Amino acid sequence: MFGGAFDPPHVGHVALARAAVEQLALDELRVFPTGQAWHKARDLSPAADRLAMARLAFSEVPHTTVDGRELQRAGPTYTVDTLRELQREFPGAVLLLVIGADQAEALHSWRENGEIARIATISIAARARPVNAGAIFDPSRLPPGPREPVELPPMPVSSTEIRRRAAAGEDISQLVPAPVARYIDKHHLYPSH
Ligand code: ATP
Repeated sequence: MFGGAFDPPHVGHVALARAAVEQLALDELRVFPTGQAWHKARDLSPAADRLAMARLAFSEVPHTTVDGRELQRAGPTYTVDTLRELQREFPGAVLLLVIGADQAEALHSWRENGEIARIATISIAARARPVNAGAIFDPSRLPPGPREPVELPPMPVSSTEIRRRAAAGEDISQLVPAPVARYIDKHHLYPSH
């Protein structure tokens, strides 16, 4: 399971997906664009656009599919609910939750995080930190459970920076897959205000 707002999906997400599939020898990596996540204050782009962009971005990654179920849930979406559904749908499967280090830092505040760590192996990928970021990630804050790291060279790219650049009319072609760049352009997704 690899969840995210994907507003928009970028080369860091795609690199993480590829690394996870290869290093963890996954039968399937399922990408879940999140609904209106409770921990993100900002209004997200429409669900249909984020789903379409995720499909474009991850179509080239082997063993990877995009699952839009969280976008259909009314109200906030929770990772633990999706993991429970996957457990029921794939009895006996080994489930892994793939996340970047910034999300891992926040994991202790996620709903039923102890349960998340019981259901799924947590696979954390390094993420380049802004220079002014706070304390270094402390793994002891993670709920107890199995882990499998994903090795990823730090990629200093974020959706926030892409939205900013797109709104300013700056080039984003190095930061998102080409079909995603075309989609953003065609649908005027990140206009300047
Ligand atoms: P925003 O800037 O809007 O907060 P984001 O770039 O963090 O967005 P998300 O969609 O929130 O993107 O991220 C989905 C998942 O991908 C999270 O687990 C996040 O940690 C991870 N991730 C995002 N960008 C990177 C990156 N450059 N390197 C490693 N992991 C990343």
